[in-house]
Amino acid sequence: MIIDCHGHYTTAPKALEDWRNRQIAALNHPAQGPKASELRISDEELRESIETNQLRKMRERGSDLTIFSPRASFMAHHIGNFETSATWAALCNELCARVASLFPDCFIGAAMLPQSPGIDPRTSIPELEKCVRQYGFVAINLNPDPSGGHWKEPPLSDRHWYPIYEKMVELDVPAMIHVSTSCNPCFHTTGAHYLNADTTAFMQCLTADLFKDFPTLKFVIPHGGGAVPYHWGRFRGLAQELKKPLLKDHLLNNIFFDTCVYHQPGIDLLARVIPVDNILFASEMIGAVRGIDPETGFYYDDTRRYIEAAPNLSAVDRARIYEGNARRVYPRLDAALKARGH
Ligand SMILES: [Zn+2]
Repeated sequence: MIIDCHGHYTTAPKALEDWRNRQIAALNHPAQGPKASELRISDEELRESIETNQLRKMRERGSDLTIFSPRASFMAHHIGNFETSATWAALCNELCARVASLFPDCFIGAAMLPQSPGIDPRTSIPELEKCVRQYGFVAINLNPDPSGGHWKEPPLSDRHWYPIYEKMVELDVPAMIHVSTSCNPCFHTTGAHYLNADTTAFMQCLTADLFKDFPTLKFVIPHGGGAVPYHWGRFRGLAQELKKPLLKDHLLNNIFFDTCVYHQPGIDLLARVIPVDNILFASEMIGAVRGIDPETGFYYDDTRRYIEAAPNLSAVDRARIYEGNARRVYPRLDAALKARGH
């Protein structure tokens, strides 16, 4: 089985974006803004938006199941206040839940949280709990920078975030550490801000002892871990200077990297540097990079090809990257698959 742990609903019907635009236009006069009930999208529209996009590509590329969350760049937690984000997150999560119920063998949800800059993360817990308990979601996306590129919140190792971690541990769900759109012109959203955040999240964990407090907490760092695998020697050396344990003991029981790296040499490096047990198959399709690589003739985000071609991976390694590791990192996914006889 091939599980893609990183998919977003980037192809939602346009009514969703129209609703969001009306919400944003009425930020200063929320009473004039749209009600949640004014967003109407039929099952037929949902089905078409998936069948002609993600599902078609999953079938072409041979992946079976995608962990599916709301469009990351549209989370835009910096817009408005907690109420703005709460209404928006609930709508976006509900759509992913509906997609998962329309295509239960192909999609399973991961929740966007209603984060807002400067707001206690505890406020996100009711939505988190609803998504896991009611919708059957198996993970969350946690944004370490709800300011959108200005980094105003404390690091992920700070007690500020502990209420979320306590709930994650209680519910046994991992978090993908995933920022949203950048409203800082210095940082391109998907080319700089995402990769910066991946690297930053890893370093925040390296300098702290978060996983001593939460030995079972799990983070998935997307986009191949940003700069982390490429600079593994730097991180090992820094950990040594800081008198931290070896990275495999300090971080690798808790941190995992996905394979959203869009060329063969990048995947080869990831697979050589990072232990196979810490690599999860993902494509982030249809997402940040949608074109065809003229050097190969294949889509950049057709990441399965790179895994297949990576010279130092065995068939057993590939099975762990495609399925085994995901079932370990996402226990609720494993339980859902077992319940379906997988
Ligand atoms: Zn993503």
